[in-house]
Amino acid sequence: MEDCIFCKIVNRELPGEIVYEDDRVLAFLDIHPKAPIHLLLVPKSHLASIQNEGSEDVAGELVSAAKHIAKEKGLSSYKLVFNVGREAGQTVNHLHLHLLSGGPSELTI
Ligand code: 5GP
Ligand code: ZN
Repeated sequence: MEDCIFCKIVNRELPGEIVYEDDRVLAFLDIHPKAPIHLLLVPKSHLASIQNEGSEDVAGELVSAAKHIAKEKGLSSYKLVFNVGREAGQTVNHLHLHLLSGGPSELTI
């Protein structure tokens, strides 16, 4: 999708510190980390929000990739967060899963 920053990172039109990739999911470092480890996991195909129809399968793929990355990096404790809607903090309208780890237990994002 045009003018979507996460689509541009997926398409390598914008730089991103990519830590994981498979057929359907890309994971990269959040540019403004809110924890010592703060990754964003996105579907390669544009989907705006968890509120969109059919998002459950995509969300499952993101969670599955997050578990894989956490295992690979030896993270036993972490947070997985979907912000849904502007008032809840969603600023980028390309569905994404935050993976946060290594910070204080009372993290707010
Ligand atoms: P949201 O607030 O929509 O749930 O999360 C969007 C996240 O994307 C924020 O944590 C923000 O720091 C991150 N972000 C925004 N623009 C960019 C960018 O251009 N590159 C990267 N790597 N992260 C970004
Ligand atoms: Zn997009």
